[in-house]
Amino acid sequence: MSGTPRDPADYAAFDAELSGRAFEGRLLGRLLHWLRPYRGMVATSVIAVLAASYFAVLMPIVVARVVIDGMLVAEQSVALPDLGMIDVHAWLVRTFDLDGLLAAALLYLAVSTAWSLTMHLHRMTLSRASLGALRDLRLAMFSHLQFRPAPFYDNVAVGRLMTRVANDVEVLFQLLAGFGALVGEFVPFFIAAAIMLSISGELTGVLGLTLPLVALATLAFRARTRGVYRAIRNSISRLNQNLQENISGMTVVQLHRREGRNLARYSEINRENREEEQHAVQLEVLYGAFMDSMAPAALAAIVWFGGGQALQGAITLGSMVLFAQFVDMLFRPVVALGEQYNVLFRAMASMERIFQLLDWSEKIEEPAAPRSLPAPIEGRVRFADVCFSYRPGEEILHGISFEVRPGETLAVVGPTGSGKSTLIRLLSRFYDSWSGTIEIDDVDIRSVETSELRRSIGVVLQDFHVFSGSILSNITLDDPQIDRERAIEAARLVHADAFIEALPEGYDTPLAERGANLSQGQRQLLAFARTLAADPHILVLDEATASIDTETERLVQEAIATITEGRTSIVIAHRLQTIEDADRILVLEGGHIRELGTHRDLLAAGGLYARLHAMQFQD
Ligand code: ADP
Repeated sequence: MSGTPRDPADYAAFDAELSGRAFEGRLLGRLLHWLRPYRGMVATSVIAVLAASYFAVLMPIVVARVVIDGMLVAEQSVALPDLGMIDVHAWLVRTFDLDGLLAAALLYLAVSTAWSLTMHLHRMTLSRASLGALRDLRLAMFSHLQFRPAPFYDNVAVGRLMTRVANDVEVLFQLLAGFGALVGEFVPFFIAAAIMLSISGELTGVLGLTLPLVALATLAFRARTRGVYRAIRNSISRLNQNLQENISGMTVVQLHRREGRNLARYSEINRENREEEQHAVQLEVLYGAFMDSMAPAALAAIVWFGGGQALQGAITLGSMVLFAQFVDMLFRPVVALGEQYNVLFRAMASMERIFQLLDWSEKIEEPAAPRSLPAPIEGRVRFADVCFSYRPGEEILHGISFEVRPGETLAVVGPTGSGKSTLIRLLSRFYDSWSGTIEIDDVDIRSVETSELRRSIGVVLQDFHVFSGSILSNITLDDPQIDRERAIEAARLVHADAFIEALPEGYDTPLAERGANLSQGQRQLLAFARTLAADPHILVLDEATASIDTETERLVQEAIATITEGRTSIVIAHRLQTIEDADRILVLEGGHIRELGTHRDLLAAGGLYARLHAMQFQD
C-alpha cells in the first residue's frame, strides 16, 4: 500500500475506554482457543473437580446416614439416598472384621482424603493450564508488538500497550481460576439439592426461601462495589503515574522547587484512594455480616421446621443433620457467582483489549518474491522522485531525487523540520507509504526483505538506547556473530576504550537504566561502537546535537571519520566539522532539495547553504 499512509483516526480505537463491557461469548471462545494446547490438563482438571464435588457430598452422608441413622439411632429408613455408602461401610466391616464405628471413621477419613487429593489435582492442573495459556498469550503480544511498524508507535500510547501485556493478562488468570471455582461450587450444589429434595420437599422449600435473599444481597453488594473497585483501580493507577512522573523527573522537581506542590498533589490522590478503599471495606464488612447471619438463620429454620418433621417421624435425625451440613453448599455458589461477576466483566474488557492488539495487523509489507542485495554490496543509494507523507494529505517530502556513490559521505543539512530525519527513516523502511523509488545498488529496497535491508544499513540515532545489561552486551546487542574481541576492537576504534577501561568492571560494568551513569559524549561513542561492531555496508548517522566538551568533541569527530571510512554514509550533520569533512552536501528545506554539491561549490553558489554556513550551523 505504498503512497497511502493510514489515517490517524484509525488508531482511536486504542485509546477508547473499554471497561465494563457486556458479556461476549465470542471473546470467551477466543480465550479458550489459547487453552487448546493444554486441553488434556483442562480435561483432567474438570474430571478432578467433578470427583471432588462428589466426595464433598459424600462426607456429610457418611456422618448422617451411616453413623447417625445407621448406627446411633438405628432407624431403618434405608430407602433414603446414601450414594452407596451404607454398602461400602458394610463391606468394610465384613472384610476387615472391624467395629462399626471404627469402619465409619475410616470411611470418613478415606472420603475426605479423596476429596482433598482431587481438589488439589483440580487446582494444580487448572492453574498450570491457565498459566501456560497466558504465558503463550503474553509471548504472542510481545512478538506482535515487535513487528508493528513506526506509524503504529507514533499513534499509540506506550503506557496503554504496557497495561495490556501486564495487567490484562493477569485479569484473565483470575477469570480462568474463577471458572474452576464456579464448577467446584455448583456441582455439589446440584447434588445436594437433589438429595435434599428426595428427603423432604417441604424442608428444602423452606431453605430455598433464603436463596433469593442471599442472591439479592449479593447482587446489590456487587453492583455497589463494582463502581467502588473501579474508582480504586483508577486512583491506584493515578497514584502510580504520579509517582513515576515524579521519580523520573526528580531533577526538574528539585530544580524548580516543586517538592511541596507535588507532595500536595500526591497526597490529594492518596486521600481519595484511602476514602475509596475505606468505602469498599465498609461494604465488604456489611455484606460479610449479612452472609454470616444467613447460615444461622437457615439452621434455625432446620431446627424449627425440620425438628417438627423429625418428631412426626417424617424425616430421620440423620436427615436433619444432613440438611444442616448442606446449608453451606446451597449458599456458596451464589457467593462465588457474585465474586466472579465482577471479574467476568473486567476480563471482557481485558480480552477485548488484548485481541484488539493481536488483531492489529499493520506491518511493513514484505515482498512476495524477495530479491537479495548484491554480495558484496557496493553501496550506491538512489532516491528517485520520492514523495512521502506521515498523514494523508500532508506531504512532507516532495519529489526527492539524489544519489550517493559507493563509499561517499553525504551530509544532509537544513533547518529543523525540513525532513532530514524523515529521509533516513525511509531508507531503513520504518515507513512504507512513499511514492517513487529508493534503491541500493539498483535494487528497489521494497523488493528486499526488511531484515536483510536493516542488516546492511547501520543507523546511529541521536539518543543511544541502553538495554539493561553490561557495556559489552550493549555494544554487541547479544548478536552471537559479534564476539568479545570484535566488540572491544570496535570500542577501541571509536576511542570508547579509554573511558570503558576506567570503569570499575570495564566492559562488564552494568549500565544503569537509560544509561544514567554515562555522559552524553560517552553515549555517543558507545553508539558508534555498537554500529561499527555490526559492520554495516551503509551508514546512516543522525549526529547528536547535544553539546559536549572539546576533548570528547575531538574524539567524536575522529570516531565519525573512522566509521564513515570506506562506507557509503548519509549523515544528518549539525557540526561544521562534520559537514566540511563530507564529500558532498545535500541541503533540504521544507521537504525540497534546495542544493546539492561540495562545500566549496555551495559556498561559491551563495545560496541557502552559504547563508546557513554564515550562521555557522551549531558552532
Ligand atoms: P528534521 O529532521 O529535518 O528536523 P523531520 O524529518 O523530523 O525534520 O520532520 C519533518 C516534518 O515531518 C516536520 O514537519 C515534522 O513535524 C513531521 N514529522 C516528523 N515525524 C513525524 C511523525 N512521526 N508523524 C507525523 N509527522 C512527523
